[in-house]
Amino acid sequence: MVGMRLFDSHCHLDDRAFDPDIDAVIARARDAGVASLMVVGIDDKSSQKAVRIAQSDNGIFASVGVHPHDSKECSDAILNQLRDLSEHPKVKAWGEIGLDYNRMFSPKAIQEKWFERQLEIALDLDLPVILHERDTRGRLMEILSSCGLPGKDAVVHCFSGTAKELTAYIDADFYIGVTGILTLIDRGSDLRSMIPMVSKERLLVETDAPYLTPYPEKKHTRRNEPAFVKSVLLTLAQVRKEDPKDLADAVWENTCRLYRIVRREPSP
Ligand SMILES: [Zn+2]
Ligand SMILES: [Zn+2]
Repeated sequence: MVGMRLFDSHCHLDDRAFDPDIDAVIARARDAGVASLMVVGIDDKSSQKAVRIAQSDNGIFASVGVHPHDSKECSDAILNQLRDLSEHPKVKAWGEIGLDYNRMFSPKAIQEKWFERQLEIALDLDLPVILHERDTRGRLMEILSSCGLPGKDAVVHCFSGTAKELTAYIDADFYIGVTGILTLIDRGSDLRSMIPMVSKERLLVETDAPYLTPYPEKKHTRRNEPAFVKSVLLTLAQVRKEDPKDLADAVWENTCRLYRIVRREPSP
């Protein structure tokens, strides 16, 4: 299993949980073969911090956006700031944006308003979109369709929907982000039965760190970190009955294609 090159396509290294030891966390990721990672913004402050972190390291990239949980704090002024911030060369996507009808930290109408507004901006800027969806029973896809998203560059991160929703995402040619939920015995069983439906060219792996620690790391630590994305990849290979190294290469290519990252290969 030498030479697996991994990309954590979605993590929150800007989270306060990493303030005490972010350099050690990044070093452990490198040691585990995680050559690149995407730090995903959830509001104005976190997007700014994500860009600062990305600036400090070649293999780290950032996205900007306002999460559905935080949409009640969103405003046109904040989106204008994020629009300016998105011109930074390390910003490779808009997100995470979407709808979350599970936690309901913001009312539905407010979530939908700012989701649509941000989709328009992302399309206008021609940036790939990072989508968050929880329990919307098809409403997310309805809005995506009305905004012309199918066929555009987008990832449904931490996919946790139904087979019907997955089919709609596949038809829309979206990428599917797989988290450590896949590794959990009970919570992951639906996901394990559905994930073989996704073509190898549309799979991404992610930690969503500091949340969703995969097995077996979950036995020892509560906080997730980018190094643990390797456990997600290994489980994904096992579930799909694919060679881990081949799958890791494909997932790496997928992530670079989605985020339009061109990295020079070291000469042989
Ligand atoms: Zn999310
Ligand atoms: Zn996230």
